[in-house]
Amino acid sequence: MEKVVIRNGAVELAQAHTPQAKANWVVVKVHAAPMCTEYKTFRAGRDAEFLGHEAAGEVVEVAQPGRVKVGDRVVVMPTYPCGTCSLCVAGDLIHCEHGADVHAFTGSPEGTATYAQYLIKQDFMLPAIPDGMSYERASLACCALGPSFGAFDLMGVSAFDTVLITGLGPVGMGAVANARFRNARVLAVESHPWRAERALAMGAEAVLDPRDPATPARLKELTRGVGVDCALDCSGTVPAQRMCIDAARRKGKVAFVGECSDELAIRISPDMIRKGLTLIGSWHYNINLFPKILQVIERSPLLDLLVSNVMPMRDVKKAFDLQLTGESSKIILQPWA
Ligand SMILES: [Zn+2]
Ligand SMILES: [Zn+2]
Repeated sequence: MEKVVIRNGAVELAQAHTPQAKANWVVVKVHAAPMCTEYKTFRAGRDAEFLGHEAAGEVVEVAQPGRVKVGDRVVVMPTYPCGTCSLCVAGDLIHCEHGADVHAFTGSPEGTATYAQYLIKQDFMLPAIPDGMSYERASLACCALGPSFGAFDLMGVSAFDTVLITGLGPVGMGAVANARFRNARVLAVESHPWRAERALAMGAEAVLDPRDPATPARLKELTRGVGVDCALDCSGTVPAQRMCIDAARRKGKVAFVGECSDELAIRISPDMIRKGLTLIGSWHYNINLFPKILQVIERSPLLDLLVSNVMPMRDVKKAFDLQLTGESSKIILQPWA
């Protein structure tokens, strides 16, 4: 099979062994592979043999009867959780601390990348795609719509809420789609003009520039001095995290889905106690919410805007270059095009 690699700093297609089904691990033929954070590896000039964690495709080989069969169309959920710990049983597979060692189990490191024609996955990580839904659309149930869906579910975002979204990469753009699906009022913060314009087209009421010192005051103004009901940071930057906390109203809620390992200073009295703030860390979403995400995919009128490009996998270099310009929302690779 073909897969994407970065070798000596160059992105290219390479031949790799096709994975083989074993126990409840099945082989999926990848039809849609959304691009996510892999551009950071490309940008840093680091080599990589296994790229990507989002996919939708068709089950082509099973080793035993189980939850899926050959021919099933499925979304491929990220990571390789154990499937049996209390978090996994509760549907919080993404938070499993006992992830499987794919190489040790299958005898090969191949099959974990989604920028590839085939991958291997446990059958319980493969929820079904409804008839009539394309692979490209279904793949939005991974990181395009997933992180913000999980966070909005935890915050209970509804039509009563004004939601602040900081950072309008593909995850932030997915957050705009999810917030609008819930009929919430959306205010956003983003400096890139292409992204700001795209979010406005998707129904954000205002997109403010984080570099403008007037932005915090403007957020207050837009909420009649009260502050936003909910805020979601998708940027993974400390200043944006702080902006979310400061912009939230008393008894408001702030969730974080943007990955970041830098320290954020929290002042317990003004930020938490006096304010009654709820801070929520959220990664992906509980698998039991999958049917609801499908409803967003089936009914949201904004998804043509959420996906900016669908490209053959062989054009992956062009796709990375496009991601680096910032002038894209979600880009989906097609390994068989
Ligand atoms: Zn587990
Ligand atoms: Zn992702």
